[in-house]
Amino acid sequence: HAKRLGGDRVEIYRPTLRSASVHTVELEADLRKALETDGISVSYQPIVRLVDRAIAGFEVLARWNHPVRGPISPSEFIPVAEQSGLINDLGLFVLERGARQLAEWQQKFRAPAPLFISVNISSRQLLRQDLINDVKAILSRSLLSPGTLKLELTESMVMSNPEYSAKVLERLRELGAGLSLDDFGTGYSSLSYLQRFRFDTIKIDQSFVRPNGRSARPVILRSIVALGHDLGMQVVAEGAETESDALELYQLGCEYAQGFLFGQPMPPAEATKLLQSETRLEHA
Ligand code: C2E
Ligand code: MG
Ligand code: MG
Ligand code: MG
Repeated sequence: HAKRLGGDRVEIYRPTLRSASVHTVELEADLRKALETDGISVSYQPIVRLVDRAIAGFEVLARWNHPVRGPISPSEFIPVAEQSGLINDLGLFVLERGARQLAEWQQKFRAPAPLFISVNISSRQLLRQDLINDVKAILSRSLLSPGTLKLELTESMVMSNPEYSAKVLERLRELGAGLSLDDFGTGYSSLSYLQRFRFDTIKIDQSFVRPNGRSARPVILRSIVALGHDLGMQVVAEGAETESDALELYQLGCEYAQGFLFGQPMPPAEATKLLQSETRLEHA
């Protein structure tokens, strides 16, 4: 359709734009169908404690295997889900799946510290009253160790509506949810918000762990780790791909890392096997 721009001017969509929007509409319809028919699944990527390389927890990541197009990346379908509002259903699905899986693992495996799970929350979910009710319901029925269901939020999300976000985060904390600051360093330049929102974990964005030029890496990483610790947070580095990444992070005092070195995101059964293969005591 052509859009009026005032006066007699009519803007005609160029073919590339038009096909892009048709593509999005199709993707949205397919995603809606996928949500109704078990077409969305979740993968788990290990987060390890660097001191002994034991699995401390997992990040849950949404996966979509399209019947015709094959696997579609979250960077493609999450924005479509956000624009259409489907993210509310998708987000709840991932949250419930993750929590149920975590309860099963916590019952099955004894560990020095209880496993945690980290779930990505989108800005649209954060702005809905439902999120608090959903988290409350999930926590009250799943008997998880306190703080082990962690919600991942980004700085741009909380800063787009700071007053409201502060209230929601406080409420979520009271309910016993953990709060993780995802992709740290990629959003706002002001650091004052870190004191305002009480996150318990900070996740250093991959771009600092694997920058294009490596020269400034130790200085920046060390500063972020110190900042996190000074504010009483635990620090996770994202995107650790090599042994030297892991060694450097450990030497800088970073306690957790996530990345292809320790495991790709994997289906639930594979994650369970990985836990079994560690010298973890299984409950009788
Ligand atoms: P994220 O939350 O920062 O998740 C980490 C992403 O980095 C994942 O990509 C993961 O596969 C990738 N990654 C992990 N280790 C490495 C590594 O060593 N090297 C490289 N190159 N990449 C690594 P994925 O699964 O494609 O997800 C991309 C983004 O999509 C996520 O970034 C998150 O923002 C979003 N997303 C995924 N699942 C969900 C979901 O259920 N809900 C919401 N709201 N967003 C989601
Ligand atoms: Mg994340
Ligand atoms: Mg991240
Ligand atoms: Mg990201």
